[in-house]
Amino acid sequence: MSKVLVIGAGGVGSVAVHKMAMNSDIFSHITLASRRVAKCDAIAESVKARTGVVIDTAQVDADDVEATAALIARVKPALVVNLALPYQDLAIMDACLKTGVNYLDTANYEPRDEAKFEYSWQWAYQERFKAAGLMALLGSGFDPGVTSVFASYLKKHHLDRIDTLDILDCNGGDHGQHFATNFNPEINIREVTAPARHYENGQWVESPPLSTKQVFDFEQVGAKNMYLMYHEELESLAKHYPEIKRIRFWMTFGDAYLKHLEVLQNVGMTRIDPVMHEGREIIPLQFLKAVLPEPASLGVTTKGKTNIGDIATGEKNGKPKTVYVYQICDHEEAYAETGNQAVSYTTGVPAMIGAALVLTGAWKGEGVFNMEQFDPDPFMDMLNTHGLPWQVKELDGPLGF
Ligand code: NDP
Repeated sequence: MSKVLVIGAGGVGSVAVHKMAMNSDIFSHITLASRRVAKCDAIAESVKARTGVVIDTAQVDADDVEATAALIARVKPALVVNLALPYQDLAIMDACLKTGVNYLDTANYEPRDEAKFEYSWQWAYQERFKAAGLMALLGSGFDPGVTSVFASYLKKHHLDRIDTLDILDCNGGDHGQHFATNFNPEINIREVTAPARHYENGQWVESPPLSTKQVFDFEQVGAKNMYLMYHEELESLAKHYPEIKRIRFWMTFGDAYLKHLEVLQNVGMTRIDPVMHEGREIIPLQFLKAVLPEPASLGVTTKGKTNIGDIATGEKNGKPKTVYVYQICDHEEAYAETGNQAVSYTTGVPAMIGAALVLTGAWKGEGVFNMEQFDPDPFMDMLNTHGLPWQVKELDGPLGF
């Protein structure tokens, strides 16, 4: 029985709080705080209507360490779950250190003025969390998160040695809009327009954004174009599994999405440097976010499925082996359960599961941790019982590319 403070009332925060309320034996008391308290109140109403559980809400600017620390001191949670934006990670970690509370997030820190995310900033908190006897669990979403745990599960149960790892992220959903992103548009567009990077023989290999394309036939979705991208779990997997010779991340995009993105880029709307507009500075990408649909609003119209998984090649009992573990999530079913589409659902459920494992002590440690550092089994079990059942199968051989 533990108190939790969730910060961030977007699609992911909404799903996580609904799922926590459905597990009130673990989450005895939930407070949801965000920049705009009205968004928290709307989620609280939905949680009450769907589960009967009453949660508290609060306003906080999580960029402000003192304000966040004051809120934590008032709520006295055992864990702070950060589902705001990557920009707030360090400020919320600082507030947790100030108040002596454990920390969890789903996306690694990214400075506002540079489209660059890496773990170095958060890994630098290792000694401070350790000295305080606290735990910070980084990246407990789907990717990173489930895809990281999939890798440790494959290593524990299916392969003695992993040689290559490919993470395949397919969203076969259709939201009926000309152009929209499935999670925060600013973060999503910064990620997609960054150069691609993969890990090979101890080195990072960079290529232009969206320049490497392959077709893959995803179960229950069909054949889709997928593009090589950099994604944050590559960095921690390369660190924690030095045996892996090549790690790549692929994401599917439809032609219409890419065409819109190309035009937006060409006209300068994805820039993150300030430009003068009617006497004041604006950031074009932030303005673009303001005119795009909120990801949380897409749930009602989105149909189709997501299919995200890991394919690993390696050796088992001296013989080569290729194994695929994947999860398929239906947008409409996710919406029926929590009022949010599958991209928010597949992130919010693992955030709840990671939080449950920290609160129950099933995952325990002092310092800063990535998901693949813990026993995958309790996490994999909870995926099956909390809405994200997965499958595993042996493939005939490695991917042909
Ligand atoms: P949204 O933009 O929908 O929600 C973010 C929420 O955080 C909003 O409610 C926003 O408030 C709030 N917020 C922003 N800044 C502050 C601040 N300074 N103080 C307090 N609250 C703030 O994003 P999503 O729900 O889609 O994503 C949430 C997080 O999950 C992001 O970090 C995203 O990168 C991550 N993510 C991770 C994935 C994974 O698989 N690991 C996949 C998808 C997302 P307001 O409404 O007022 O703007």
